[in-house]
Amino acid sequence: MKKKEFKAESRRLLDLMINSIYTNREIFLRELISNASDAIDKRYYESLTNKDVKVNKDDLEIWIKVDKDKRELIVSDNGIGMDKDELDSNLGTIAKSGSLLFKDKMEEKEDVNIIGQFGVGFYSSFMVAKSVVVRSKKQGSDVAYEWKSEGVEGYTIEECQKDDVGTEIILTLKDNTDEESYDEFLDIYNIKAIVRKYSDYIHYPIKMDVSHRSKVEGKENEYEEKVTTEILNSMIPLWKRNKSDIKDEEYNSFYADKFYDFEKPQKIIHTKVEGMLSYTALLFIPSKIPYEYRTGEYKPGLKLYSNGVLIMENCEELLPDYFGFVKGLVDSDDLSLNISREILQHDRQLKAIQKNIGSKIKSELENMLANNRSEYDKFFENFGIPLKVGTYSNFGANQAELKDLLEFYSSSEKKLVTLKEYVSRMPEDQKAIYYACGDSYENIAKLPQVEKIEEKNYEILYLKDPIDEFVFQILLAYEGKKFTNVATEEIDLGSEEEKEATKKLNEDNKEMFTVMKEAIPEVEVIRFTNRLKNHPVCLTTEGQISIEMSKVINSVNDPNNKVKPKLVLEINESHPIAKKIQDLFKESKEDLKDYAKVLYSEARLIEGLSIDNPVEISNLICKFIAK
Ligand code: ADP
Ligand code: MG
Repeated sequence: MKKKEFKAESRRLLDLMINSIYTNREIFLRELISNASDAIDKRYYESLTNKDVKVNKDDLEIWIKVDKDKRELIVSDNGIGMDKDELDSNLGTIAKSGSLLFKDKMEEKEDVNIIGQFGVGFYSSFMVAKSVVVRSKKQGSDVAYEWKSEGVEGYTIEECQKDDVGTEIILTLKDNTDEESYDEFLDIYNIKAIVRKYSDYIHYPIKMDVSHRSKVEGKENEYEEKVTTEILNSMIPLWKRNKSDIKDEEYNSFYADKFYDFEKPQKIIHTKVEGMLSYTALLFIPSKIPYEYRTGEYKPGLKLYSNGVLIMENCEELLPDYFGFVKGLVDSDDLSLNISREILQHDRQLKAIQKNIGSKIKSELENMLANNRSEYDKFFENFGIPLKVGTYSNFGANQAELKDLLEFYSSSEKKLVTLKEYVSRMPEDQKAIYYACGDSYENIAKLPQVEKIEEKNYEILYLKDPIDEFVFQILLAYEGKKFTNVATEEIDLGSEEEKEATKKLNEDNKEMFTVMKEAIPEVEVIRFTNRLKNHPVCLTTEGQISIEMSKVINSVNDPNNKVKPKLVLEINESHPIAKKIQDLFKESKEDLKDYAKVLYSEARLIEGLSIDNPVEISNLICKFIAK
């Protein structure tokens, strides 16, 4: 028979397992039981959706058997089973994120102690077994196959005899050495303890035959060995237990096991709802951004159970889109078991659960915001973007729900603040909520337009996420205070006289600006301004599209279809440059045009925009320096 080779990364993981000196080897049993339970879930689910598959729920079970003489530990299930191809691909490669993540971490630093933090899966059996045999018969198939491996050299698959659908995993334990003994995994009492520790909530019975010495009835001093079948687990799903009886570690290990996230969740929400619609929800907010978020493979949704039985792995309808980062499950006795995806989409009960869950998550977040700000800031660091996207999308349909959960960086507080906090601090004479955009807080702080507003002691919100400005465009105002971009919008800071003076200055210099515009045709308006303090120039826009927005839009749009903001070059009326250009207008129109080019380029650079003609501009600057 031909031996097949493991894929390279499986080999490596396997190698780690075989040679591991990890003390917590017992977790292999948790992994095998969890696989068995998954397989039974799948078979049961099949039976609900496929008329040809008939399964009696009460027959579904997991068995553990021990053969001390052969040093065998056997875990079997009557789940969905695997066919030949599945044995090959499921056991020959590492597919699951848990194992992959583990492998990556392992490569970073060789520390076996991190094994326990990961769902290392099937291969963990090689921590205790010198040979692993998997005999399996797939639901709907007549033939059974046997997969066998003794380690990294490879594995074989051949046909075998097996009557019932399901999978049987036979571990032949490693030989004891002077340092290591594996006998504990043949010890019935120890096995019982391991199952209770890790797999108590598995909702199928885990059965084992246990023999006891007991008195022979009616006889004084005679004993006999009696074998009884015991169910080792309580079968009560974690979420059905009383909140007060559940330890944090139990929640955390459940979360790791079910959701392949081995960092403990930031927030656990466990809630029972009774009434018209009864359900239990167990929700987790991850403490970091899920890996799949970055790769775009993240699937939002909650697991859906009906009375303890999994009926859908990922039910999107249970969560509002903007809370898509929440993981967890919902168990409702009110739902019909053979509910199909199509029905679900229109299910009124489900819509109602979604609404309830949405408000529950929201109120938990509000609590965190009010009572544990540093935790909330950490949360917002991770998941602020989905909340902002939620505020903005669907034409702002959910803005009322979300606007008080948003945080933005404040120029005066130097930390994240809410809109409510901002407004509560606004001085009497401040009319609007000011904000400025850029790619970092440092760069925003240096924007020419920011200076003058800060001089007035007004707070400015610094926006560095590209989505932020879109959010403000949808919100328009908060508590009646309009959002105002300090770089682009008319800002009413000066007195009436000052405004009149600037207006007159601009009218008097109309012709000068016309000449300057000839040199920089992409600029639509040039004017003097009184809103800059020390800086000579700034670039602003008029109309709907700001410079920051155009950067975002153009980065996703077709390059031939770029949007162009309506550019305005503003020149500080009290800067010496103002007088200089007015002189040049009289003395040399050519120099004035060159000045216009240089000033415009300066303004572009400050805004974080590139300049099209760097050589020309550099030469011009040198020309003026040399004069
Ligand atoms: P995971 O459970 O995270 O997918 P494992 O390494 O534990 O990773 O298992 C790999 C795959 O092998 C499973 O996804 C499943 O498809 C298959 N498998 C393992 N054990 C069984 C079983 N008892 N019955 C059916 N399929 C199984
Ligand atoms: Mg597994």
